[in-house]
Amino acid sequence: MPALAVFAALAAGPAPNPADLVLIQKGTLPVIVSAPHGGRLPIPGAPERTRYEVPEFATVRDANTDLLAEQFAAALERKLGGKPWLVVARFDRKYLDANRPPGRAYEDAAAEPVYDAYHAALAAACKAVKEEHGAGLLLDVHGQGTYPKAVARGTRDGKTVGLLRERHGWAAVAGKNGVLGRLERAGYEVIPAADAGPDAREDRLYAGGYTVSTYGSHTAYAVDAIQLEFGTRLRDREAVGRTAADLADAVAAFHGAYLKK
Ligand SMILES: [Zn+2]
Repeated sequence: MPALAVFAALAAGPAPNPADLVLIQKGTLPVIVSAPHGGRLPIPGAPERTRYEVPEFATVRDANTDLLAEQFAAALERKLGGKPWLVVARFDRKYLDANRPPGRAYEDAAAEPVYDAYHAALAAACKAVKEEHGAGLLLDVHGQGTYPKAVARGTRDGKTVGLLRERHGWAAVAGKNGVLGRLERAGYEVIPAADAGPDAREDRLYAGGYTVSTYGSHTAYAVDAIQLEFGTRLRDREAVGRTAADLADAVAAFHGAYLKK
């Protein structure tokens, strides 16, 4: 079928196939990566969202965060010889925002099975990691434009990494083998700065959304969850591969210090 005909068939199809719209990889490592805002595909049957009055309504794409998540996963596998769990949106945020509670995530019922597939995959990953490893790390990967060369941390001011802090202290977040601390040592500006300590408040815009709030270690899922908001310059075409490799280095160091049995 020519490309245009495929597109027409997709657009006219009666129902979306969630499997085409959410990339899911089962993992072997206690590391889960979610990237809800980098997709480009329409959801068959669902029009673009328009309810601007919904709290935290946003349709802007976090450009290249899908690539960042996938390249990170490949780099981590090369380093550790195991696979992280991956849940990556192929659908465009214009139709569905997977980092929102169901009532704010979509407007059309056609998007619901896609939303459910995204979160079923995340929930299953958290459950499997918890059962198999007793602890785990969930990274929710995003993009922001406020600090183009920086990475903003979102843990609801430490709440979604509560177990990690209890077991290993704040160093496990911002110290030399913490993901943020390691990124800072690799030359990245991180917000709040690693040495600002556990009481420094996170930027309110990037302090952690629905995903880290739902699966973080303060919940029954009990995996430590960090939202990472990468600046525009860290994920443009030239930079995204380097950023993915540096994130894999940071997570490998974290894994070695805090997750390896
Ligand atoms: Zn985002």
